[in-house]
Amino acid sequence: MSEFPSFVSPRLEPEEAKASENPPALDLPPILSPSFTPIDTIPSTPVPIPVTTEHTPAPSLPETLPEVECLVRARIPTTTGTEIFLHLYKNNVDDKEHLAIVFGNDIRSTSLDRVREGETEMDRMIRGAYVGRLYPGRQTSREDDDKHSESTKPTNKSTLVRIHSECYTGETAWSARCDCGEQLDEAARLMAKENHGIVVYLRQEGRGIGLGEKLKAYNLQDLGADTVTANLLLRHPADARSYSLATAILLDLGQKEIRLLTNNPDKIAAVEGKHREIKVTDRVPMIPLAWKMDNGGIRSKEVEGYLKTKIERMGHMLDKPF
Ligand SMILES: [Zn+2]
Repeated sequence: MSEFPSFVSPRLEPEEAKASENPPALDLPPILSPSFTPIDTIPSTPVPIPVTTEHTPAPSLPETLPEVECLVRARIPTTTGTEIFLHLYKNNVDDKEHLAIVFGNDIRSTSLDRVREGETEMDRMIRGAYVGRLYPGRQTSREDDDKHSESTKPTNKSTLVRIHSECYTGETAWSARCDCGEQLDEAARLMAKENHGIVVYLRQEGRGIGLGEKLKAYNLQDLGADTVTANLLLRHPADARSYSLATAILLDLGQKEIRLLTNNPDKIAAVEGKHREIKVTDRVPMIPLAWKMDNGGIRSKEVEGYLKTKIERMGHMLDKPF
């Protein structure tokens, strides 16, 4: 674990941090060779790593999976031009609106498609239980032979999946304390490329401790603690997240075998479920963009410390980039 990339500067002690009110610009050695490297040569698709070891499920995994039901689904055209289908779920363990962001219109939710008592075709279309595309005047939710209906080609590969926990600061408030926003963008980019994939978006802010407690943890970090210690000082577990909702949502979306975008070995075992309801065939690493490119990506003293803690204290499998 002492193999942490050399460009990561050591954490400043509080006194040193105080001494430098305007910290100098990051002293990052060039990641690419000094000669110009065309952007095309930067690998844009991470290499999947087959998951071969049998995981011993963590004892904390629940015996039975939560019950989930997709309440509504809608097509979202995105700013990149890719269309996604946003699925909103309810469940029997909390009151939060967990989401599945689905790339490709061949992935269907069993609970959404189930016929509900007394519903009309219009009811079904309004809650998103339609096949193909909606268009003005459409009368049926079922597959029709209208030219508006189109389906994506089924793929032979198992579905690319990211289990993403909500991060208000990193996704909305432009925070450079973590790389959550970048990871979400990168997952979407890879899934758009395959026109197939699922981001399960879980509403568990701040590794499950909530936004208010996360902000307190940030203040503790500014006082010198790392992210794990800050949580422990606030009497929270280092990581309070649970992934069994994600397992249940993935099963509802018909996924038994997936490729998982993650650096976190615990997440693989957790999403597979206690009885291995889902099999993770490959792990696709999430390498910070700042490690792959000479500009772009998140660069801050805080994100360096955050990644260092993930590797050294949480066992994340992030390889030294060079
Ligand atoms: Zn974050």
